[in-house]
Amino acid sequence: GSYESVALVVGVTGIVGSSLAQVLKLPGTPGGPWKVYGVARRPCPGWLAKFGVEYIRCDVSNTEEAKTKLSPLDDVTHIFYVSWIGSEDCETNAVMFKNILDNIIPVAKNLKHISLQTGSKHYFGVFEEGSGVEPHDSPFTEDLPRLNVPNFYHDLEDILYEETSKHGLTWCVQRPALIFGFSPCSLMNVVSTLSIYATICKHEKKPLVYPGSKASWNCYVDGADADLAAEHHIWAAVDPKAKNQVFNCKNGDVFKWKHVWKLLADEFELEMVGYIEGNEQVSMAELMKDKDAVWDEIVKTHKLEATKLKEIAAFWFADIAFSCVDLVMSMTKSREYGFLGFRDSMKSFNSCIHKMRSYKFIP
Ligand code: NAD
Repeated sequence: GSYESVALVVGVTGIVGSSLAQVLKLPGTPGGPWKVYGVARRPCPGWLAKFGVEYIRCDVSNTEEAKTKLSPLDDVTHIFYVSWIGSEDCETNAVMFKNILDNIIPVAKNLKHISLQTGSKHYFGVFEEGSGVEPHDSPFTEDLPRLNVPNFYHDLEDILYEETSKHGLTWCVQRPALIFGFSPCSLMNVVSTLSIYATICKHEKKPLVYPGSKASWNCYVDGADADLAAEHHIWAAVDPKAKNQVFNCKNGDVFKWKHVWKLLADEFELEMVGYIEGNEQVSMAELMKDKDAVWDEIVKTHKLEATKLKEIAAFWFADIAFSCVDLVMSMTKSREYGFLGFRDSMKSFNSCIHKMRSYKFIP
């Protein structure tokens, strides 16, 4: 056909997957025009159907199904792996990635490059408690060694290094900071999680109370705009100077949760209650555990896209974000290699809220 490159986006309904789908299809995107295959587990959501992606519904953890659905894709030139199973189980996450590579590499004769997204957990350890590992000192740079703790990122990297070297392909490992995106199908979308918390506060006529720790209220945090992460994946995929490298990915500035709290209070027209001296962290997951019916009611009243609270909001993830301290990473290596993209974190957060509104995911 008239395509220059053919992308396979694994996890296309996810937070970066949905941005990749959009950005790859823009006129003028490097390496284009792109044909885009997108893989995810659920049926194609209505909002995604308009992006012009060839959607493949497939449970990639199922080896038989992956073989049937993926082995016809013999024109793929670039794989963007932006997925995980939703648990930190090393074996299942490894099987998913293997199932992609085992079925695409043998058939796709023009395959050039594989981009793997992991994240800053590489530097501070896994979410599961009790790993007991001491995090690296920040700011994190790409050359820091692996922590001595089981982490599925290590398994995915090892598979990537082995398969690309065996088959003469190029690769990139991208380690994004906390991602700001608009997808309502992500397992970890902090913008949608906090927007929905604010929406429920408004519905119940309560102020927007910060439930996090004192340290998290005051410390610097890194964000990564999902469109920026997509641009960064594409840059590393097409720029010959960027080949076979690990790169951090973040907006370039830092922010504080107190700034986000102000932004949320303004956007959702709520009274703001910031961190109160002496308070211990309260779990947002606990606060929101009985709100499923409240969300259903809000969806109905405002005629929103049908979503379930458990799918569109990850309150457990906010609990982790609101207990963290000092996890900033360095963006210098990407800049040295020629990636100069950036975002203003508060504008990025705000534009994700607006995008979610325009898609009718939130009121
Ligand atoms: P996500 O949760 O937003 O999306 C996951 C995608 O994978 C979805 O499209 C989902 O349908 C798909 N998927 C899951 N299981 C599948 C299966 N069995 N078969 C087919 N598709 C399946 O993903 P994400 O947050 O972009 O996560 C990708 C990586 O990025 C993870 O390693 C994560 O730890 C890392 N990361 C995420 C964030 C964040 O803020 N979300 C920040 C830094 C790093």
